[in-house]
Amino acid sequence: MESRETCDILIIGAGFYGLYLGEYLSRHFPRVIVCERGPDALQRASYHNQARVHNGYHYPRSVLTAVRSRVNFPRFLAEFRPAIDADFQKVYAIARHGSKTSAEQYYQVMKRIGAPIDPASREISRLFDRALVEGVFQTTEYAFNSTVLKEIMLERVRRAKVDVRCQTEVVAVEPSPDGSLAVRLRGAAGETQVQAGQVFCCTYSQLNQPAAGVLRPIPLKHELTELALVAVPPELRNYGITMMDGPFFSCMSFPARQLHSLSHVRYTPHGHWYDGGPDYRPAYEIFDALPKETAYQHMVRDAARYVPLMKRCEYRGSLWEVKTLLPRSETDDSRPILFRPHYEGLRNYHLVMGGKIDTVYDVLDVMARQFGWTEL
Ligand SMILES: Cc1cc2nc3c(=O)[nH]c(=O)nc-3n(C[C@H](O)[C@H](O)[C@H](O)COP(=O)(O)OP(=O)(O)OC[C@H]3O[C@@H](n4cnc5c(N)ncnc54)[C@H](O)[C@@H]3O)c2cc1C
Repeated sequence: MESRETCDILIIGAGFYGLYLGEYLSRHFPRVIVCERGPDALQRASYHNQARVHNGYHYPRSVLTAVRSRVNFPRFLAEFRPAIDADFQKVYAIARHGSKTSAEQYYQVMKRIGAPIDPASREISRLFDRALVEGVFQTTEYAFNSTVLKEIMLERVRRAKVDVRCQTEVVAVEPSPDGSLAVRLRGAAGETQVQAGQVFCCTYSQLNQPAAGVLRPIPLKHELTELALVAVPPELRNYGITMMDGPFFSCMSFPARQLHSLSHVRYTPHGHWYDGGPDYRPAYEIFDALPKETAYQHMVRDAARYVPLMKRCEYRGSLWEVKTLLPRSETDDSRPILFRPHYEGLRNYHLVMGGKIDTVYDVLDVMARQFGWTEL
């Protein structure tokens, strides 16, 4: 292995976070490289997700998180307009039994945070079994098309002259005496090494993997998750529906495939594990080894109790992914993000993770404060 290339910044992972950060940092640092182990950008969590652009409605019991979503929502919309699907009516409904919030409480909290909410029209209300559903509300929430998001971000990093290398896995990061980091890469041409001034690890569920040999892993919780993709009956095509507030379902537009995704709090997770201890195994390795048997029938059967037309959904396959949950102790100001500069004392090695797509703005905020950057 030889070839001692150098760069100012090396970013691990070309998901949404890696590319966004890559472009951002290129305004300040001349040589930025993004290494991606897969064949293309935005193919993992940034593709395999519910595509919801959060606007606060999901967090009736965490006002701070709801308010952060409200702040990020217009910013994300303005920045990524061509990737936004606003062409459906988003409906939030509250179950009569098993909900942690009543319809009245839900309505009041959303009013308080300024999220647009109105009791649903009769036409929408009729879609629900009102014996099981206490309240139905029309809201303003959108979905993003992750394929368009990828195209926008790839164009932006191209213009910023960020060097994005796919099929290039970071296999190790080690300190060097001068404070820079030796990053070992494995690609089509075998192993090479880059000497990087700073490294930002944006690998989401694999956050602990690149430096696993030298640093103690953060005790992240991972879930094997399944999102079913369905063609909904025509009567439901223009709606996104989320039943709150507990073990219920969500059926959202999934613009990248022109279908809806169906998820269920009880059936979407298929098991979980934690990083930590001496026997660390990368999340993708565990994910690949786990059996993936669809729970679609359970999801749709339960959803149809509340919205009988759901019975007529046609199943078109499932998206499987590792969902990584941040330990409460690791998050920042109740924002669902993790930013660990100089992790475990490894100078210039930084961990970055956002629990949602739009929390990238919170990451930049916190990072700019930490490093004393003004707007780059
Ligand atoms: C089931 C599910 C539903 C979700 N729903 C929503 C939602 O509705 N709305 C929302 O805002 N958020 C949602 N999220 C969260 C959102 O998907 C993530 O916050 C976001 O995609 C994280 O982006 P990322 O770039 O950090 O991760 P990723 O997109 O996973 O990118 C990480 C990249 O790192 C690469 N990589 C890993 N290891 C290495 C290595 N050693 N070397 C090089 N490259 C490597 C991977 O191949 C990958 O491309 C959901 C997540 C899941 C799993």
